[in-house]
Amino acid sequence: MRYYVLDRGDPLSVELSQQFHKLAEQRGFELDAESPEIVVSIGGDGTMLHAFHTFIDRIPDLAFVGVHTGHLGFYADWKADEIPKLIDLMCGIGDPKIMKPRIVKYPLVQLEIHKKSGTASFIALNEFTLKGVDGTLVAQVDINDVTFEMFRGDGICISTPSGSTAYNKSVGGAMVHPSIDALQIAEIASINNRIFRTLGSPLLLPKHHHCDIFSSKDQRLLLTVDHNNFQIDDLISVRCQVAEQKVSFARYRPFPFWNRVRDAFLG
Ligand code: NAP
Repeated sequence: MRYYVLDRGDPLSVELSQQFHKLAEQRGFELDAESPEIVVSIGGDGTMLHAFHTFIDRIPDLAFVGVHTGHLGFYADWKADEIPKLIDLMCGIGDPKIMKPRIVKYPLVQLEIHKKSGTASFIALNEFTLKGVDGTLVAQVDINDVTFEMFRGDGICISTPSGSTAYNKSVGGAMVHPSIDALQIAEIASINNRIFRTLGSPLLLPKHHHCDIFSSKDQRLLLTVDHNNFQIDDLISVRCQVAEQKVSFARYRPFPFWNRVRDAFLG
């Protein structure tokens, strides 16, 4: 098996990373930074975001496994003391029924950025947000090429189902099961008055729909794609839709989404 490990860089994550390499070598795994089949992220959900973007060009060809070294993760299901067990299961040892992991696939959000100076595209695992740098964001939101609303406020958050438990949750979005091919549009502190009127509720778009956000004035904007930030001074529009490709996670045991939501937020 060709594998790669990314860790958060804190002492425990580095130690576990070394432990993983040692056990993997004993089992004949091949360390491969270019074309791994399995990428192991050791740290937190933020580490998984880094791992995802590190291998963004190879997403269809690999699966991720997450080990958490802090609190329970949404992308990281293995605990710090479970590395030997994880390696055993990766080798098909311990449970003869598990010779191969179950691969679960989660939807992603695709963005096409149109600027006066050119175009760019991105894929988000959690979400993309658009905010004003100097103050209020003013933007027209179209759904399926029809004007939907004029937005004025702090920003707009467009999340994937697996990202619904992250920033989206803080702005009042719904939790969405990752088996649903959808993106969620949630407002970040919208202003509502006679001129600017927004829906005021988060909404879900299915896979075959798209949404365009048009910058409605000259404004400096901050675009975030997961943990990455970009400033854009000449935005024309952003098109968002559910991406064609999905991200794969290798499951060596069940990791139900609703259990994770309960354990993370309800205790
Ligand atoms: P960070 O600011 O250092 O950490 C953000 C927190 O979000 C961490 O506790 C992280 O968990 C958690 N997180 C990441 N993905 C998650 C998910 N899918 N479900 C639930 N929690 C999740 O930033 P970062 O580690 O680089 O992560 C970037 C992410 O931060 C963005 O994608 C965005 O979702 C989130 N964020 C949230 C807010 C907010 O809620 N107001 C504001 C900005 C950004 P770990 O500790 O396990 O890494």
